[in-house]
Order: sequence, then structure tokens, then C-alpha cells
Amino acid sequence: MIIVLKPKTKKDEIEHVMEKVKEHGWKPMIFEGVERTVIHVIGEIHDEDPQNGFSSIPCVEKVVRILKPYKLASNEHHPQPTVIKIGDVKVGAGNFTVIAGPDSVESENQILKSAEIMKKNGIKIMRASAFKPRTSPYSFQGMGVEGLKLLKKAKDKTGIIVETEVMDVRDVPIATEYADVLRVGARNMQNFDLLKEVGKVNKPVILKRGMSSTIKEFLMAAEYIMLNGNPNVILCERGIRTFETAYRNTLDLEAVVILKQETHLPVIVDPSHAAGNRDLILPLCRAAAAVGADGLIVEVHPDPEKASCDGAQSLYPEQLTQMLKEVKAVCNAVGKKM
Ligand code: PEP
Ligand code: MN
Repeated sequence: MIIVLKPKTKKDEIEHVMEKVKEHGWKPMIFEGVERTVIHVIGEIHDEDPQNGFSSIPCVEKVVRILKPYKLASNEHHPQPTVIKIGDVKVGAGNFTVIAGPDSVESENQILKSAEIMKKNGIKIMRASAFKPRTSPYSFQGMGVEGLKLLKKAKDKTGIIVETEVMDVRDVPIATEYADVLRVGARNMQNFDLLKEVGKVNKPVILKRGMSSTIKEFLMAAEYIMLNGNPNVILCERGIRTFETAYRNTLDLEAVVILKQETHLPVIVDPSHAAGNRDLILPLCRAAAAVGADGLIVEVHPDPEKASCDGAQSLYPEQLTQMLKEVKAVCNAVGKKM
């Protein structure tokens, strides 16, 4: 339920409404807009509950029931698109943000080189994982905390903003210390304890869609993070499992359209983990921009043939330059600022 207050409602009147909400055993969350204050009521609200009790308070303009299972993530609750500020980068609402970088941190030389390539191409946020979710326990498992330190070194040397994956609640404090943006990977989209934990940090979180998750489940996962106090969630479509075997996953661009209708949160696209093959990345990037995504997260490696993970889907640096040029043209056509 949402309680919309009249313009210029005074502090003590807001307090009064909040107290009333609490009397019902519900949790009030307050959102102050430019014109109006809105109180979002979290809790089990049944049809027979006294909405009218709230409607009759003089400072209340209207009471709106939200029937969608996701509330904080819903457009109904927050009609304006959310803009997430990361340093001087704005994600969402008319901006098109490209995040790029290698799959993983592999060495000091590799990550510094990567950061320089990103800077040269005007990329302000670099991705690179230190904690790696691998299907096989025999595959490269990531550099762990050592990798986080190298990532921070690359940030300190070049000024680039850094983004990295967290796989476990125990990773969250140290990753928060070294990185600017946290990522919850597809395999952990429903790791509810992890979602709650990243909900408690004050860094933006990129939440990737689980490979077999519905859009509703995806938004409910975002809801976990938001309900725990972190409103800065960026949703990422990264391909879903289908019967098709010609590529790694099916990039669900239709989901981007639906998400943009359902939520105010920014939605970005990861073509790399959908394609699994660098030859498909460029057209998928153009398509993502055309369909209304708010940005991309793309794997790029200084020397993909030597990559410890996901080399086949990593762009060569010169392919990144070309991709940015083409995507910028699409952004111009659809009225997005890149
Ligand atoms: C990644 O971004 O490196 C990754 C492992 O992606 P996903 O969680 O989408 O598989
Ligand atoms: Mn990868």
C-alpha cells in the first residue's frame, strides 16, 4: 500500500501517519519527492484492512493498494526512473552506460592494461571478478582477496571505477572495501542471504538474472536488496537457458522491454554471457541499445587468447572501440545519452 501525502505536508503530520502505520504492525518507508512525500507501507495487508482510516487523515491525498508482489521495485511505487550515481557516472533515465572489462582479475599487469584500454575508450566503469563461480571445481577459481587488491590498485592508478562479483555473504565486507559496485551473478540471483547482505551496503549492486528465472522472480530478488535498505539496484539481463545450442544462452531482449515497463530501476544487458562467442557481441549490443536498455556490461580482454576464463566471448580491444562507435549511433537514434 502507498500513502500519497498532500504537497507541503508538515513533518509532524508525516510522523502521525508513520505512527498509525506502525500501530498496524506494518513498516513505513518514506520517500521524499520534489513535490510530494510518499509513504510505502510494507506488511501483510488484507482486503478488509482499514485503508479508509488513512484516507481520512487530512494530510493524505490518496491511498493506493499495490497488488504486484514486488513493491519497492515497482513503477507503481516510484513512477520516475531511478538514476544511480556512481562517481560522475549516471546510470538510468536517458543515459546509456557501458561497463566493460575482463571476466576476471588475473595479474597486476593484465588488470592495469585492461584499465588503460578502458580509459582510452572512454569507459568509466571496469568490471573484473576476483571471486569466480565456476561450473567445474578444477577451473580457475579467481584470485580472491588478492584480486580485489589488484583491482583497487588499477583504480588508484587510473581513476577508473571498479565493479566486481560477490558470491558469498562473507565476501561482501571486503568487496565493499575495495570495489565501487558489487555484482550478484546469475547463479546467486536467489541466494537470499546474499541479497539481504548486499541490501545493507551503500554501494550500487548489479543484479544479474538467473539463467532460468522468470521476470517476476528477478524483480522479487531486487526487492530483497531494496527492502534491506539499498535502493541502488541495476538489473542485468544476461541470457536465459533455452533449447537452443547454437550459442551459450538466449539473450532475452523482450525481458528488457517488460522490465522497463514494470520497474523504475535501470536495466542493462550483458551480451557476453548470452553469446559465449565474441562474433555475436556487436549486433547484440546494438540491439540492446535499440530495445531501450540503459547500458551494457561487456567482457573485453587485452589478450583474449590468454584469458583464464571466458576468452572466447571477450572482445579484442579494437572490437570494443568499434562497438562503442556503433552503439553510440543507435543511442543517438533512440534518444539516449552515451
Ligand atoms: C560474469 O559476469 O562473469 C558471470 C559469471 O556472469 P553470469 O553470472 O551472468 O553467469
Ligand atoms: Mn565471464
